[in-house]
Amino acid sequence: GFKPAERIASVGVSKILQIGARAAAMKRSGSPVIILGAGEPDFDTPAHIKEAAKQAIDHGETKYTALDGTPVLKQAVCDKFRRENGVDYAIDEITVGAGAKQILFNAFMATINPGDEIVIPTPYWTSYSDIVEICGGVPVLVPCDAGAGFKMTAAQLEAAITPKTRWLLLNSPSNPSGAAYTETDYRPLLDVLLANPQVWLMVDDMYEHIVYDDFAFVTPAALEPRLKERTLTINGVSKAYAMTGWRIGYAGGPKALIKAMAVIQSQSTSCPSSISQAASVAALNGDQAILEERRESFRQRRDFVVSALNAIDGISCRTPEGAFYTFASCEGMIGRTTPAGNIIGMDADFTDYLLEDANVAVVPGSAFGLSPYFRISYATSMNELKEALSRIERACSALR
Ligand code: PLP
Repeated sequence: GFKPAERIASVGVSKILQIGARAAAMKRSGSPVIILGAGEPDFDTPAHIKEAAKQAIDHGETKYTALDGTPVLKQAVCDKFRRENGVDYAIDEITVGAGAKQILFNAFMATINPGDEIVIPTPYWTSYSDIVEICGGVPVLVPCDAGAGFKMTAAQLEAAITPKTRWLLLNSPSNPSGAAYTETDYRPLLDVLLANPQVWLMVDDMYEHIVYDDFAFVTPAALEPRLKERTLTINGVSKAYAMTGWRIGYAGGPKALIKAMAVIQSQSTSCPSSISQAASVAALNGDQAILEERRESFRQRRDFVVSALNAIDGISCRTPEGAFYTFASCEGMIGRTTPAGNIIGMDADFTDYLLEDANVAVVPGSAFGLSPYFRISYATSMNELKEALSRIERACSALR
């Protein structure tokens, strides 16, 4: 029979995708399911970006490009880092891949030796630990609960570091918690890294532009120039410009690392899509007003979802600083009994109940390594959110 390679033996298909598939199947067979599971903006890609892609096709930009990004796109990325983050990267310190996910994969594939440890604050985006495992590394998961604002402390980082630690991986604003690190939050962590020169820093700034209430986004390479030589700053166009399907992500980092990552890319995808790269140039160099409009729309939804959740007995939700997720505690639901007589033993029982009885698909905290919580993605219309939250409220009050 078929036997998968050992490197993927412990890696399953993403729990998020499984729930999504089950919810979609229920929907197809007639259930009025509302899916609050997807990690992508419901907006369309802005028109000027689509236009740039059409132009690229018409002008024959339909061939292989330079391995890890066209010079024009790399320049646009350099300009973005300088303009928005105050970080200077040279052209040869930039890499472009098929989504931030490929950037993460390239970086880990190019640096992890068997048994190397990667410190990951939890809850974390599920792909982090799976990619690390595929690359032969050991994810070191550090629980950071709502009481800690879902953020890691310097003491936790210090305790997690061993001689085998290769990377610390931070994600701010975070998927799934929406928590974001201020300069004050970052400082003590960066000091720990300065004292541990074998540890490199990978930051995933994917949700940089989706922050609320005048939150001042900062990235570590700007805060601590002494760490820049061992920091990889990852970002992309997927979430900021509603371009998830175009598959473009990018990063800035030290030249030797960028070169090693190019080796992986050259033997996997050869280069990102030429058309998507042209579209990304338009996204990065074009009018940024669209970001503000969308941010305001996300903020209204966040405020609605957070207050609706907190009004439910047994649920408590911290107000996230960014991204488009809430990560609420459902600890108060554990031990309660459903109308059908089932006991809610853990967060996945609660989310199964919401899917089956209330026809609302959300993702249990266990999928992100921290329980008992559940994640709602509010990147959907206000009408759907209102209906979904009233269903959740009704389902919760039916528990005994
Ligand atoms: N990083 C985080 C934190 C994400 O949530 C996601 C997508 O869900 C990604 C990276 C992947 O983005 P991309 O579409 O660029 O691969």
